[in-house]
Amino acid sequence: MKKLNWCFVIVTAQSTSRVRQIYLSGMVLIALMVVSCAGLAGMARLLWCTGSYAHAKFGVYEARRDNRGLLMKVKFLNKFIAKENGKVNALVAFEDRIRLQYGMDLISKDVRLAGVGGRPTPDELVLSRMLDPLLIQAEAVRERLSGLMRKSELQDSTLSRVNEYVGRIHKKWSQRPSIWPTEGRITSPFGYRFHPIAGHILFHDGIDIANKIWTPVYATADGIIKSVGLQDYFGRMVAINHPESECKTIYAHLHQTAVTEGQVVKRGDLIGYMGSSGRSTGSHLHYEVRVGDRPVNPINYILPTDAIVD
Ligand SMILES: [Zn+2]
Repeated sequence: MKKLNWCFVIVTAQSTSRVRQIYLSGMVLIALMVVSCAGLAGMARLLWCTGSYAHAKFGVYEARRDNRGLLMKVKFLNKFIAKENGKVNALVAFEDRIRLQYGMDLISKDVRLAGVGGRPTPDELVLSRMLDPLLIQAEAVRERLSGLMRKSELQDSTLSRVNEYVGRIHKKWSQRPSIWPTEGRITSPFGYRFHPIAGHILFHDGIDIANKIWTPVYATADGIIKSVGLQDYFGRMVAINHPESECKTIYAHLHQTAVTEGQVVKRGDLIGYMGSSGRSTGSHLHYEVRVGDRPVNPINYILPTDAIVD
């Protein structure tokens, strides 16, 4: 078999140099090719490692940047939660004051803390040791935020109940007779008295307040006009129902009335003018307060001006 030899022609850059020929055997050529391939593989490996290192370094940079962002969010949320907690706590204190003022039961701390906070379970402790501290902080913020929301919802609910209760109390008080029905002097008190027309002792169901004709007469509480009429004994009279306080007021011997049946009146509204109609010896107002149908002393239903709550 004919032996193959390879000839390489080396051309130099100088024109004066001779052209050189180098003869290589097949084995030497194969060895050179193997060495070359190994060199190329080594360079490729080096390039790949360099690229991986750069990629990993960039990943670390991105992770640090993300951590900084998360840390800032955690700090911001912690401040926000602290601020909102302060507002809710102020509302709780405000509600407690109202509850005390109106004789309502206070909401216990256990109820207010329902579902908020609490000690971590053993499993949670193990898990927390495995997690990154920043993730633990983030989880704590999420828990605090969740607690704040539950606390706010409870506060909204309890304040609504306080509002309803106080509203009912105010309505009851607004319908409770509490002011003078007119100006003048008391000429006949509540109770037994010598009746000037009958000529003997009779029970007086109200008080008489005397003044000149046309002196304005006012509703002593919020209510609904039950009747406006002319009677033999009471003359021109107005009766007002105050259902929330279970009271009724009567204004009699009027010169003129200023309301109609079914009309809604507020405390202090004009309802008529003093006169001497019916069985009367002079211009005065006969004023009665009844609880149910039982007459009570109207003087007990006249409060100092600064004690009246509208
Ligand atoms: Zn009278």
